[in-house]
Amino acid sequence: MVPPPVGAEEKGKKDPEGPVIVRVLLPLPLGDGYDYLLSSPLSAPKGSFVRVPLGRKTDVIGIVWGEGEGGIPLHKMRPVAEVLDVAPLPADSRRFVDWVAGYTLAHRGAVLKMVFGGAFRPLKAKDRIEEAPLPCGCAPPPPVLTAEQQAAASALVRMVDGGFSGVTLLDGVTGSGKTEVYGAAIARALERGKQVLLLLPEIAMTVALAARLEKLLGVAPVLWHSALTERQRRLNWHAIANGAARFILGARSALFLPFKNLGLIVADEEHEGSYKQEEGVIYHGRDMAVVRGHLGGVPVILASATPSLETLYNVDKGKYGHVVLKKRFGEAVLPDIRLVDLRAEKMPAQSFISDPLMESLEQTLGSGQQAMLFLNRRGYAPLTLCRACGYRLACPSCTSWMIEHKRTGRLHCHQCGHNIAPPEVCPVCGAADRFAACGPGVERIAEEVAARLPAARVAIMASDTVADMAAARSLIERVESHEVDLLIGTQMMAKGYHFPLLTTVGVIDADLGLAGGDPRAAERTFQLLQQVAGRSGRADARGRVYVQTANPDHPVMRALAHGARDAFMKAEMRERQDHRLPPFGRLASITLVGADREHVAAAARALAAAAPQGKGLRVLGPAPAPFALLRGKLRYRLMVQAGREGQLSGVIGSWLARVRVPRAVRVQVDIDPYSFL
Ligand SMILES: [Zn+2]
Ligand SMILES: [Zn+2]
Repeated sequence: MVPPPVGAEEKGKKDPEGPVIVRVLLPLPLGDGYDYLLSSPLSAPKGSFVRVPLGRKTDVIGIVWGEGEGGIPLHKMRPVAEVLDVAPLPADSRRFVDWVAGYTLAHRGAVLKMVFGGAFRPLKAKDRIEEAPLPCGCAPPPPVLTAEQQAAASALVRMVDGGFSGVTLLDGVTGSGKTEVYGAAIARALERGKQVLLLLPEIAMTVALAARLEKLLGVAPVLWHSALTERQRRLNWHAIANGAARFILGARSALFLPFKNLGLIVADEEHEGSYKQEEGVIYHGRDMAVVRGHLGGVPVILASATPSLETLYNVDKGKYGHVVLKKRFGEAVLPDIRLVDLRAEKMPAQSFISDPLMESLEQTLGSGQQAMLFLNRRGYAPLTLCRACGYRLACPSCTSWMIEHKRTGRLHCHQCGHNIAPPEVCPVCGAADRFAACGPGVERIAEEVAARLPAARVAIMASDTVADMAAARSLIERVESHEVDLLIGTQMMAKGYHFPLLTTVGVIDADLGLAGGDPRAAERTFQLLQQVAGRSGRADARGRVYVQTANPDHPVMRALAHGARDAFMKAEMRERQDHRLPPFGRLASITLVGADREHVAAAARALAAAAPQGKGLRVLGPAPAPFALLRGKLRYRLMVQAGREGQLSGVIGSWLARVRVPRAVRVQVDIDPYSFL
């Protein structure tokens, strides 16, 4: 059914033959769209892609968003140049753009830009979009599921069949076969002729999962992430818009694609902080998946072995369904997790691997199995200091130490990328050759392993050593084919991977994530370490995990050692409730960024002076942000704490509109922040 052209109902009050005024939203971070004239024979229902002039440009592509607002004399209004031969953006996609813009306080045009996948690219004459094959009789037989998996799969399939537009948490321990279980729901939605979107928090994970899903479902997913080529991007976008692409696997930005017939959204690893986009339009991919599902009447599955507190809260309140997998698949059992008390271990000065962990590594490698060491820190050493005067090498543009990398032979700032050759003399006291590397990064752990286990074949997996998808794929293949004995990695390898021979996992510094003022620090540390531990013993042999910590009595460490997730989350939930932190209250952060300290501080004070008053509303700050200096810019922060009820975005929007901030100061609003730096 084709919706009536915009303005058709107004023909009575206007010249019936005359032009219609339409509002066109442009994928640009300005205004809220512009009025254009639409003259016959052109007609363009809401959602139509149109080419319009803007300033001196003649080829800007926008979307007809509604009726024009008027207010400009007709003779000054510019005409729509062309209505493109592309299916109009469906109403649920348009509602989603409006909703996200209203919630995040981003420009509607900036959100539309994500719908365009960055820039709209028309199909070229030589482009051919092929209908994606459906799962057919030639697909591999469905996997044999355990009784527990079968029950879970049936519950999810019923949800798809019932067209139930709610949210269900698929809560399964690591190695329980969540992929096979939600795979059944995906297969059913595809059978019913619907499109399915499977979201992952990081693109590095799509490689391994895409191959696994193709084997499982007999359909290769169409990918959507930032590493696609221009041509792939264009073809995939149009295939999704015209419905030829049925199964889409992507990063959070895929949520904004113009799905023709979306029937299921799955967000895997739903607890992952990397679902949060921290730049441009600041949004949480998981939360927006729930919104997208709601607006489109589409069921949503959130999957995790360590669900977020927010999601568990919604399960407790009965808002989300809950499907549980308690057992690992096949013969595998959950790993044995042991704490290594670093205070009691007598380790030599430059050594970071304790004796119990080292013994286990020797034994594991000796028996032909694989091991993994986890340290969430890239490079060789996180701090370089002068032993003569105590000076620490810091980045001149950031509140950040310079981090030594042996791979490049330089010192790098992880915030801005600034890098320098290691200085020969101390810039403060002039002492020569007195610099000392303090603490370990993954490269330093590799060095220690090379010295103590010289026969081991070692690979490092971190975002700087595995720079692209091809490198990730080749490393995964090397681990799978046992060309690697010991994998050393950052959080990049904490989740999703399934290496059957991997039986021992060592966590070098479990306390790393606990410091700082992040209200989710304990929850995140628990989730991350639980995920890391979950990489071990996924096949027949039981996994062993050594968690090195200087705080063995910390609730996170005790919960890990005792497998007491639910008790830990309950305690964490009470803690949050006492402090009215999410999900019991809401937060928003407002960061002011600028080159001039006085300007930034003055703008922050002006905002604080005009802070909104209201029940349960509290504005903290301004104060310098933890990264008070970033890429040469100063950063001040205000934190807004509010109750669960009420329109936090609206309150903040009207507050910001009341205060004049100089142009040289950028105001960045983060509703529901996950980063407190
Ligand atoms: Zn010095
Ligand atoms: Zn820097």
